[in-house]
Amino acid sequence: MNDKKLLQAIGYRDCPHCGVTKPLNEFSVNGYKNGKPYYSICKLCRNEKRHTRYHSDENYREKQKEANRKYLSKLVETEEHKKARLEKKRIYYQNNLASLKGSNQNGNSNE
Ligand SMILES: [Zn+2]
Repeated sequence: MNDKKLLQAIGYRDCPHCGVTKPLNEFSVNGYKNGKPYYSICKLCRNEKRHTRYHSDENYREKQKEANRKYLSKLVETEEHKKARLEKKRIYYQNNLASLKGSNQNGNSNE
């Protein structure tokens, strides 16, 4: 077994972009797009590529900004959702507490 195979066996892989053999946690998870669990290039290279593209490709830049806006607006929605959920929970708890007290009083009056 040569060094490369040994490294692959313990979870290392080559990044074709920088040519460095790195552990799998240096590669972003791809979610099995293209049938592969990881991106073929390492996180550093991916960041570098994105960075380069961001500054050289105006369309890409606008798309990223748009995606960011959508992401942020989703976060705001989620926050409102959360508040509404907590408020419902609070009301439910209050109602429940009232009915619990009520049943206790009933229990006392039976004695
Ligand atoms: Zn790399």
